[in-house]
Amino acid sequence: MRRPVVIAVDGPSGSGKSSAARGAANALGLRYLDTGAMYRAVTWWMLKHGIDLADASAVASHARLIRLELSTDPACQRVLVDGIDVTAEIRSPLVTGAVSQVAAIAAVRGHLIAMQQAIIAAAAETAGGIVAEGRDIGTVVAPDAAVKVFLTASEQARAERRAAQLSGRDGSPSADSTRRDQARRDRHDAPQSQPAADAIEIDGTDIGLDEVIARVVALAGSRRAGA
Ligand code: C5P
Repeated sequence: MRRPVVIAVDGPSGSGKSSAARGAANALGLRYLDTGAMYRAVTWWMLKHGIDLADASAVASHARLIRLELSTDPACQRVLVDGIDVTAEIRSPLVTGAVSQVAAIAAVRGHLIAMQQAIIAAAAETAGGIVAEGRDIGTVVAPDAAVKVFLTASEQARAERRAAQLSGRDGSPSADSTRRDQARRDRHDAPQSQPAADAIEIDGTDIGLDEVIARVVALAGSRRAGA
């Protein structure tokens, strides 16, 4: 049997890391973990229950009690919070606008990171490995990951990708406000979004998704072969 492999895909919003990580997991027959969805799900719960996001200790103590369930099937992403399917709602502009504030709370991070490490360990043990995507996978969540990718793209390309994702939804924001929101989120997320020293940077600005996936798959192949 092949050695289990953990692949970390980090990068800023709009870099295309979700599609790349999911595609690579599919191609390699591995599980897939979207850690951003976990921060979003916690944020959704706080907004739903009217918790003051500036009250870090209240947010952290509630976060520990929420029942979070995530599928790790790359072909079928579902997120449940206390049994409620929030897969679509966690992508709303309201959640997107608030998530960085929740993610900046150290106790929330500690709790979610422990959950993420448990999911990664289980996938390595039972499913041959996992592609985990986020901001701090290669640095904090899985510093021993065999493959670490940091996916970037120009600000323009990222804003266009975000706007395309949002278009057609109710209340979809303008290109200008998408760019402003992205810049604000980048600033807030900066402390936990640094590339690992041993991460391979892939700039997705001028290459298609298939090429990004092919590069991640090739990196996994070379590491598995012991290169
Ligand atoms: O990746 P996505 O845009 O869905 O992430 C939503 C937010 O969750 C990010 O803007 C960031 O604040 C937070 N996040 C994080 N650490 C991760 C993944 C996401 O702080 N590993």
